[in-house]
Amino acid sequence: TKLNVALIFGGKSGEHEVSLLSTASIYKHIDKNKYNVFTIGITKDGKWMYYEGSEENIKNGEWVNLANKNVEINLIPSGSREVGIRFEDGRVENIDVLFPVLHGPYGEDGTIQGLFEISQVPYVGCGVLASSVGMDKLVCKKVFSQIGLPQVEYTYTNKWEFDNNTNQELDNIENKLKYPIFVKPANMGSSVGISKTTNREELLDGINEALKYDSRIVLEQGINAREIEVAVLGNYDVKASIAGEIKPAKDFYDYEDKYLDGASTYDIPAKIDQNTMSDIRRMAIEAFKGIDGKGLSRVDFFIDKDSGEVFINEINTLPGFTNISMYPKMWEKTGLNYEDIIDNLIKLALDSKK
Ligand code: ADP
Ligand code: MG
Ligand code: MG
Repeated sequence: TKLNVALIFGGKSGEHEVSLLSTASIYKHIDKNKYNVFTIGITKDGKWMYYEGSEENIKNGEWVNLANKNVEINLIPSGSREVGIRFEDGRVENIDVLFPVLHGPYGEDGTIQGLFEISQVPYVGCGVLASSVGMDKLVCKKVFSQIGLPQVEYTYTNKWEFDNNTNQELDNIENKLKYPIFVKPANMGSSVGISKTTNREELLDGINEALKYDSRIVLEQGINAREIEVAVLGNYDVKASIAGEIKPAKDFYDYEDKYLDGASTYDIPAKIDQNTMSDIRRMAIEAFKGIDGKGLSRVDFFIDKDSGEVFINEINTLPGFTNISMYPKMWEKTGLNYEDIIDNLIKLALDSKK
């Protein structure tokens, strides 16, 4: 019998559009002989809607206008209402596996995973804890440093401190770090709200920009970085792909480069020596286990071009899944094709409930 898999896409985050691209790609590759695929979209203002149709209309955002508003989605076990999708004729399709294809806040940060736990339906990827730790660049750094993973120097501020003691906060940051300094909202992804600053004025602007996305801000020592990524897959028996290297076309790997013009190039495998390759793969698994990861993650590293040092940058618990994304491409080069990854993720979701 076929499993009912619900792809949940869109979402109330700065990465809504990225999710549409990832979803179109997963929808195209998922084996429809094995799975009945249901697509549930979340609009930018947070409304859930059932949409049945083409990947093209998911990609271009038209699905919002084409969604069937009479189909009910119920994820909360209650009274006689079944968890599942209720169609206009009264038929209810239960969901065997929920597959969040969401990035950033409300999708990758543990909030929707909490809802899935309550629904008691198995779901793809990390649980509540790993998702929220992975999304929070500040807490994540503390976990990484506790397990001994190397990181660039950093400090932090928050809206309240910053608004009340602006000059003192800027002084503290400048005392701790040298320019260039990267400014990042603690909870975000896809480079949204991130700036590279080279003087106090830019630092001030960068912090104000980042404060639009989160009230907690991370400041990092900017380095001249090679960007190395590893794809991780598994629940307990965790595997790491060979590492790849992204070569951004611009100053840094920003949103536009990631998803719009895609002008960056990549090497898979990354052109690094064997020891560094195996160190990075080991650290990727340690980072994943360190946050209690399940299912998948993409773990990102920097290699300092000047000193050769390796630093862990971040873990992304729901990495981009578009056809130009590194996660599927790195697995492909390691011997798992796109369809295999999806099969594995669904199997891991079912296993984690046992
Ligand atoms: P996101 O979660 O949005 O991807 P990242 O922390 O990965 O945020 O930062 C986005 C990009 O900014 C990185 O891929 C890299 O190009 C650049 N970057 C971030 N931090 C640093 C740093 N400390 N030094 C140099 N470049 C950085
Ligand atoms: Mg990220
Ligand atoms: Mg990143």
